[in-house]
Amino acid sequence: MWWISQIVLVGLLCGASPTVVAAASTAEVDLLRQAPLTTSVLRAGIQPGSRLAKTSLGAEWEPLADAASARSFARRSRVDLAAPPNGAAELLVSCAVPDADAGGVRTSVMLNGRRLGIIRLTAEARVARFPLKPRMVGPGRNRVEFKKESGDAVAGTGALVCNFLVLREAVAEGLPYTPPIRESAGQLVLAAGAKFEVFLRHGATGRMAVDVCRGTARLVVDGVGGPVYQGALASGSPQVLRLEWSGSGFGLAGFEAGPEGAVICRLGWQADDDAPAVAAPVLQRPDHEPRNVLLIVIDTLRADRLGVYGSDRDLTPAMDALGAQGIVFENVVAQSAWTSPATASILTGTDPTTHGVRRLGDTIDTAVPALAEVLGANGYATAAITTNINVRGELGFDRGFAKYRYLPESESREGFYAQAAEVQAEAIAWLDAQSDRPFFLYLHLSEPHAPYAPSSEAARRFVRGRPSDEIRTAPDPMEHLSESLVAGRDEDLAWVRSLYDAEVATVDAMLAGLRENLKSRGLWANTLVVLTSDHGEAFGEHGVAGHGHSVFAEEVQVPLIFGWEGAPAQRSSALARQIDVLPTTLDLLGIAVPAAVEGVSLLGETAGDAFTETRLHRVEKAGLVLGDLKVIRTQGRTSGSQMAVHDLRKDPEELNDVAGEHPYLAGWAAQEFRRRESEAPATPRVRKDPAIEKRLKMLGYLD
Ligand SMILES: [Zn+2]
Repeated sequence: MWWISQIVLVGLLCGASPTVVAAASTAEVDLLRQAPLTTSVLRAGIQPGSRLAKTSLGAEWEPLADAASARSFARRSRVDLAAPPNGAAELLVSCAVPDADAGGVRTSVMLNGRRLGIIRLTAEARVARFPLKPRMVGPGRNRVEFKKESGDAVAGTGALVCNFLVLREAVAEGLPYTPPIRESAGQLVLAAGAKFEVFLRHGATGRMAVDVCRGTARLVVDGVGGPVYQGALASGSPQVLRLEWSGSGFGLAGFEAGPEGAVICRLGWQADDDAPAVAAPVLQRPDHEPRNVLLIVIDTLRADRLGVYGSDRDLTPAMDALGAQGIVFENVVAQSAWTSPATASILTGTDPTTHGVRRLGDTIDTAVPALAEVLGANGYATAAITTNINVRGELGFDRGFAKYRYLPESESREGFYAQAAEVQAEAIAWLDAQSDRPFFLYLHLSEPHAPYAPSSEAARRFVRGRPSDEIRTAPDPMEHLSESLVAGRDEDLAWVRSLYDAEVATVDAMLAGLRENLKSRGLWANTLVVLTSDHGEAFGEHGVAGHGHSVFAEEVQVPLIFGWEGAPAQRSSALARQIDVLPTTLDLLGIAVPAAVEGVSLLGETAGDAFTETRLHRVEKAGLVLGDLKVIRTQGRTSGSQMAVHDLRKDPEELNDVAGEHPYLAGWAAQEFRRRESEAPATPRVRKDPAIEKRLKMLGYLD
């Protein structure tokens, strides 16, 4: 990874004194590689939300936080476009009315007062093209107008959101269209007057290395407090500009090519390391290195259901006992809100945009490390016993395991998933067959995943309330919960939550049994137990039930405990991630961490940022946690994107969007998401299998 985060989070630690560690120096960012991803103003077209588009828009427009789109609530909205030098062949517009109903909103599109046609704008943006005759476009500015024609209510209140408008150049027959900005042999070639912007993450100072090798360009660099640099860049004199801000944050560099165009051969950005260093937790290691590793992933387990994370329902005595002898991480962000990508991050120490598992059926990139492979190479006997179709071996989750046993879901099973008792029996049988080698055993348990079928004892103790008949008789109450939420049936919500709680208690009881078994073999004392979850579960917090829908805390906040007998109880509130599980585990075992791992060992370091995403459903979400701030991008597969910023300190429930208070942050994050996407591997996807599709559908994974 060529980009290294600046570290802005100050970690807090209970039980040990924090030590300030010098942050690593930041690597140079190649902005030339980012420019084609961020081009926000074309020569004869605009992205209305871009800062440079401001002078082209009527006052009715309001830019949105993604720095590309803008919205207008007016009945008529206007945009001025410059004519391309060779004349225009067509007008392209990409707009939507997010509040539109299924019929859409009929909208007239006019050019210089002449109606080009009527389009039906739907909730998702689509590109509409209007062929133009010669002389319809004049030299200089040309006015495009939108006029909503239908649906009084929507025409009055619904916003028109546009992503881009372009007057596409007329070209001689047979000649390829040349975009005003293009990348060629590692250089950026700009036509006359072409502009682009890139967002920067900066400390108090930084250096920009610019080499305009042909033509001229103008550069403006902005920070939150206003411009920090403006000047002309001539060709033939590579420069290093030292830039200064009043503190660390996010800024913007805007380039505009001169009348003869420009070729930019180098554009590097290096933030000097003036960002506050992080107070990394100093966590006590075991006085002896543990010999064995037991990794327990409990599917869909929210951190707040554990006593050791503050629940007072006494659901998890075995997990709490583990936390009492080990390290509890209080602030853990899962790298995804559903099983496959999140579990792949745990097992490989890399983000979904690196291991490549992002949608159903994606396989893990074989180039990323695998915990089982590393431990196998270090003499460990390795085995996995899993119960979830989304971590089945053919997706690459079996890499490095000498034994990989997936106990499939089945309609004939009570609760659909293989139960913890069955996993425990398999685990014990495997342990019985082992010789004296150290072992790595990964168990993936699915009790808290809907549909719920708690043990009768747990149900007696924890299931409460009088639900409605509709939900009580539903085959999967969790699936029915959304309807109950809409109907305001609080008694249904309370009952479903108690079913979930009973499942958490059921899996905890199994863990107690496994612990006793390991104790009786004399293995418990030298086994490191790593307990975590792949993702959380929403119970209506943002109006939805289940997981995979959002990257809000209820879906991505997970428990993480490293426990071993005799360890002192330690807690850390520093940011931790699933990708840190692999390096922390290896560090505790005294085994070197592979270079390709993106996580850090939480024993001595803490990350400044956490990435998370979910691409399971039609609307995709991506999130970045940067200290106290969380940026979330919402993107429909065919529509534009929206960005929101939440201040987690003031607004832990993530209800208020404060993007307006953080100029450039949302734009920088949008650029960062695009960069990650452009670098993500396209790993093979397994072939569709009707039997598997059926099971996925039953589990709510297919729309
Ligand atoms: Zn899961």
